[in-house]
Amino acid sequence: MPPQRPGKTAPRLAEDIRLYDPVHLPGTGLNLLSQVPPVYPEDADKTVDFVSPFACQHTYITKENQTYLATAEQRRRPGISSKLSAVCSKCRYHLQVVMHHSISGNAFALSSMAGHVHHLVYKSGRQQGSRMAEEVTDKGQVVETYHYQCSHVPCSAMVSLRILSPLINPQFLELLSDPDLIRERAEEAIADQPERLEGMAIPTPITVLDNLRLYLHNALHSHERSKAISSSNKRFMLSFGLEGTACKDVLEFLGFVYDSEAGSWQPPCPTPWTLQPYQDTQRIFLDDIIQELLCLLHQRPASEKRGVSFPALPLQSTNDILSALDALEC
Ligand SMILES: [Zn+2]
Ligand SMILES: [Zn+2]
Repeated sequence: MPPQRPGKTAPRLAEDIRLYDPVHLPGTGLNLLSQVPPVYPEDADKTVDFVSPFACQHTYITKENQTYLATAEQRRRPGISSKLSAVCSKCRYHLQVVMHHSISGNAFALSSMAGHVHHLVYKSGRQQGSRMAEEVTDKGQVVETYHYQCSHVPCSAMVSLRILSPLINPQFLELLSDPDLIRERAEEAIADQPERLEGMAIPTPITVLDNLRLYLHNALHSHERSKAISSSNKRFMLSFGLEGTACKDVLEFLGFVYDSEAGSWQPPCPTPWTLQPYQDTQRIFLDDIIQELLCLLHQRPASEKRGVSFPALPLQSTNDILSALDALEC
C-alpha cells in the first residue's frame, strides 16, 4: 500500500461541513474543507485555528426536491450517484454533496470494498484564497467547490461539495422585511385608493414574506393556480406597493414579468415537468428561493408569527449528509 495522503474519514468530513462557514473564516486563514488539521496530542481541540468563534453553527435542512440518496443496495453498483441538497436555516447558505462511484470501478471491486470507511483526500476546487477564485453564478451567488477522492484502492468513490451564498441578498431582504419600507409603500397604496383600501391593516414583514412564498409555491407546484396578478389586487398592493414598483427589482430577480398593458405581474412559469431530483435550473432556483423564504419566516419574532400559519421547516440534514457520504453506519 502506498503511504496515505492526508485526508479525512467520511464522518469527519460530514462534521467539518457543518463547521465550515465561508463568511467567517478563522484568523489563521486555514480552510477546514481543503486542508487537514494536524494531529495534535489527543486532548487538543482540532477545531482551534480552523473554526472562527463567529462561524455559523449551521443547521442544514434537506431540500427534498433536489435530493437523491442511493440505497445501500444501489451503492454496490458502479455508476451510481447520491446527491444531497440543503440550506442552512440560520444563514441561508446552500450546500450540495454529491457522491459518485465512477464507472471504472467494477461491481466486484465495489462489493469487496463495501463496509470500509471512505478516506477522502482533497483533490481540487475553487474557493476564496485558493489558486482558482470562487465562481459567481448569473444570480449572483458566490460558489465554492471542493473535490475529494477516496484513498482506498480500489474504491472509486468521489465526493464533490458546492457551497453557495444566499440568493436573497441584503438589499432584497430589506425590501421584503423592513417594517418602515413596508409601511411606507402600503400607506402610499392606501392614499392612492382610499375607497378600496381604507381601514386595511399594514402588513407585517411575515405577511409580505409569506405572500411572496405563496405566489412562488403556486408557480412551482400548482401550475393551474398560478395566474397573472393584477397590480390592483389588494393583497399584492399592500405587500409590494402600487403596481409593485417599490419591489420591482426583487420581483424581476425572481422571474416575475410586468405587463404594463394588462397592468399585471406574470409569475415565473417554469417547465411543469417534475423530474426528481430537479434538473431544470428555473425549478431549482424557485425551490431555493422558497426554502430561503421559509427559513426567513421561521426567523421572525414570535409576536409576528401569532396567527400566521406556514409550513414547518424540513428535517435537519445530519443523517442525509452522512448517507450521501456513505457514512451512515460508520
Ligand atoms: Zn449557517
Ligand atoms: Zn472508499
